[in-house]
Parts: sequence; C-alpha cells; structure tokens
Amino acid sequence: MTTSIDQATFHNSFVEELPGEASFDNRPRQVPGYTYSRVRPTPVSAPHLLAWSDDLGRQLGLARPPERGPAVGVLAGNLVTDSMKPFAARYGGHQFGNWAGQLGDGRAMSLGEITAPDGSSWEIQLKGAGPTPYSRRADGRAVLRSSLREFLCSEAMHYLGVPTTRALSLVATGDLVVRDMFYNGNPQQEPGAIVARVAPTFIRFGNFQIMAALNELDNLRALADYVIRRHYPELGEPGSAEVYRRWFEEICRRTAVMVAHWQTVGFVHGVMNTDNMSILGLTIDYGPYGWLEPYEPGWTPNTTDFSSYRYAYGQQPRIALWNLMALAQALTPLVGDDPQALRPSLDVYADTFNATYTQRLTQKLGLTALRSEADQALLEALPAALEAAEMDLTLFFRRLSHAAPVLVAGGSGEEAIVDDLLEAASYAAPGAEGHETMRQWLGQYAGRLRQEAGPASAIRDAMLQVNPKYVLRNYLAQQAIDAAEQEDLSVLNRLMEVLKKPYAEQPEHDDLAAKRPEWARQKPGCATLSCSS
Ligand code: AMP
Ligand code: MG
Repeated sequence: MTTSIDQATFHNSFVEELPGEASFDNRPRQVPGYTYSRVRPTPVSAPHLLAWSDDLGRQLGLARPPERGPAVGVLAGNLVTDSMKPFAARYGGHQFGNWAGQLGDGRAMSLGEITAPDGSSWEIQLKGAGPTPYSRRADGRAVLRSSLREFLCSEAMHYLGVPTTRALSLVATGDLVVRDMFYNGNPQQEPGAIVARVAPTFIRFGNFQIMAALNELDNLRALADYVIRRHYPELGEPGSAEVYRRWFEEICRRTAVMVAHWQTVGFVHGVMNTDNMSILGLTIDYGPYGWLEPYEPGWTPNTTDFSSYRYAYGQQPRIALWNLMALAQALTPLVGDDPQALRPSLDVYADTFNATYTQRLTQKLGLTALRSEADQALLEALPAALEAAEMDLTLFFRRLSHAAPVLVAGGSGEEAIVDDLLEAASYAAPGAEGHETMRQWLGQYAGRLRQEAGPASAIRDAMLQVNPKYVLRNYLAQQAIDAAEQEDLSVLNRLMEVLKKPYAEQPEHDDLAAKRPEWARQKPGCATLSCSS
C-alpha cells in the first residue's frame, strides 16, 4: 500500500520539540536564539518530475507520482499540505578550516517527517525551493546539473553500501537560474531543479557549533537531547555527562566507518566543511564530489580547493578527525566544561577508521585475515603501487577479483593476466616505469593468495561481492546531465538502473565500467567542478 505524497501525513518533531522562530520572514539575517526558522517554499513556474527513486518510495510507502500534478507540486515546493510545517535549520560551520559563523539551510527546507510502513521516521527536505533567512546573498535555488548529481550519487552510494542520505525525486522547475559555474566571470542561465532528499535527520556538526559559538547553551542541550532521544535511543535518557560522552563516541565511530567506506570505494566528497558533516555519520551534501579514477591521494575535483587541496582524497580521514575535534569543542559544555573530556573518543575515531579500512581492504583483496607483518606490509605497499601505475581504483579491484583464480593457479597464466590487468586499469602509457612497481606488488600478492584455504572460485566470488563494477564515474554523471539538459532522460534512467546493482556483472552495460576516456580527462564537469551549484 502506497500513498501519494500530497496525501501523506507529516510529523514535525523538529519544529515542535525545539525552539524556532515563526516570523516567516525570508530576508537574509542572523537568527540568534533559535534552532530553526519556519519558512514557505517559493513556488516555481512549471514543475515536472524527471526522476523518482522507486525503492526508496516503496520503503517510505510513497507512490511514484505522475509527471505533473499535486504530488510533484509537493516535491517542487508549490504545494504545502496541512500537516507540514516547513523549516530551515540554523547552523554554522568551519569552511576550509575557517570559522564562518552562521550559515544555515540557505536553499534547503525540510517539509517534516513521514513514518514509513516499518515505523521508522524520515525527514524530507527540498533542496532549491527558494530563499530562507540563511540564504545570505544567494537565491535559494539549485541548477539541474548539481541536483542530478546529488540525486544519482546519493542513490548510487546507498546501493554500494556506503552510509548516506537518500534522494527520492528530481524535479525540473521550469525556471532558469543564473550561475557562474567556475566563478570566472561567465554567468549563464541554466535550468533549475529541486531534489527531495531523505534522511532520519539532516542535523550537522554545524548545528551544534553555532549554539556553542554564541553561547546558546540551552539550545545546544535541547538539540543534543533531541538527537539522542530520536536517533541514539540505545544510549538512554540524555542529561548526564556520561550519556553525552558516549554519544560523541558513537558519532566518532560512525564517522570513521563512513570515511573508511569513502576511502575504499574512492569517493572524494570535495567540501568536508563542518556544516557538511552529518550528526548520524551519513554522507551528506553532494556538491563538487568525484570518484577517484587514477589512484592519486592528492586528487580533488573541486576547483574551489585548488589552492590548498585540503579536501583531497588522501586528506579525508584526517579532515574528518579535524571536524570531530571542532564538534568536540562545541559539545564540551555538555560534559562539564573539561576540554579533555571528549579526547578519548577521538582515539575511537582513529581506531575505528584504521580497523574498518584495513578490514575492508583485506576483504577487497580476498584475504580472510592479515596473519603476519608481511601481510600488513603487503597492504601498506598497495597505495604506492596503485599510484605509481596510475591504476583506476574501481577497475583494479574488479579485475583483480576475476584474476584471483589465475593468480592462485600461478604458472604461465599469471603473466598474461597481469598484462590484462594493467592494460584494462592503468592510465599510464604501456611499459611505464610504474607498471613494474605494480607487477612486483602483484607477484607478492599472488604468493599470499596461494596461502588462502578454500577454492579459488570462492575467493573470486567473495571479492566480486565487495569490489563494485559500477560507480558513478565523473564523466558518466556529466553525460547524464548533458542529455537531461536536452530533455533526454535516457542516460540518467540507464545509470540509475545499473547503479542499483553495482556488484552485479550486467555485461550489457560493460561500457559504463570502462576506464575514463581520454576526452574526459580535463573536461569541466568531468574532471573539475566548483561549489557553484
Ligand atoms: P554548501 O557549500 O552547499 O555546503 O553551502 C554552504 C552554505 O551556503 C549553506 O548555508 C547553504 O545553504 C548556502 N548556499 C549554497 N548555495 C546557496 C544558494 N544557491 N542559495 C542560498 N544559499 C546557498
Ligand atoms: Mg552544505
């Protein structure tokens, strides 16, 4: 049984349980003393549905809406039904390492929460539905290219098994939005769009930081208690320093697991500001993200970060820790003002990250466990070999899975399969020096693989379960955008279907699992993006 979203009952726990202001004044301003502002979405001229996530819809008990009509009205902000109390949350954050003061939902607004058939509660948020008090100088809108990227990637990450917010729909607004895509004096009109995204809550580290920064300690505590009661009930009733401490520890643990996933699938978030860090440890705010193609720790697609590479792939684990330290500082008033009280939890972050990352990498390599220092050394040598040989991270592990039985068998087949692997997954020229490093590593790895018990086919099958064939390569997203901007949704629809089963072979879609083509290497949108969206 499914309901149309315009008929669904919304609950409003955030609005009802926390202090907010209800002036409905959308003018940009500081909003001290409140955790949110009530807002009204600004209607758009001709909304129509471009994409809908069927699985998520089913999970929420929501029916796929027709292309136009009241349900799409809700998803575009044109229709606010009686049970909704839309709001924009107030938060702050560190942007690129600097405290930026109040930020807030400048172009996101939550409609409220709906209860899924399984009893779970989900907040639905529109991104691009018009200005709020937190819009500062911007317009509260979003363009199709960035909305499509958020829609596709949220869902792709979910199917990969990475903790993430979800996306329910992508709606074209029928309005044009002006953006300077690379902030280089080239403003263009672009089609506007709105994503309806879904999570248990969209609260970020920054929601707590703004309260602490302005010494709004009652709000800080109210927000923490709200999050603990609704989203961390296993910790017990909030109030004591011990519960807040254990809560922070759990945030550290979840954040570590999330980043360990990112590192092993090759996802680069692009803007790990503290306002883009979910309090639930979910990947949130898909902007100038990208997928690692040639393995390169210093890589980021975000041109806005080209002066410092703060958020490059290889930096992500330590930036998450930096962000957790900023959160710890904000939460310190809850644990008796002892600045050291939350420090041990930061070790939990490091330990959990290292353990999860190592475990995932071990599995990806088809090993049941690391048994010796030599095993540890083999794992540690892999990144340098991948980098030297400019290996495509996704293709490397997928091809390695298929190659495993041949490597186990050894002998004459081994050299040929290594040649194949380099040919299929390396961006370096044939015969490049880095290939030798990779060959040596593979030789040692093959030796180690032969020590595994069990049939080689079982090793391969287990590896295929954890090494995806399909990820949302940057140029694939751009192809879906180029087509959608010409009103052709076939590329988007095909990607959506294929990315639902990233670990399945789907041989008819082999072209989506190939090395990045040469033309995409420098192309804007494929290789480089900015925060302009
Ligand atoms: P982001 O870089 O997307 O994480 O956004 C940083 C801050 O800028 C957040 O407070 C956003 O709500 C706000 N923001 C970004 N784009 C817009 C926009 N087009 N209109 C209003 N606010 C925006
Ligand atoms: Mg953000």
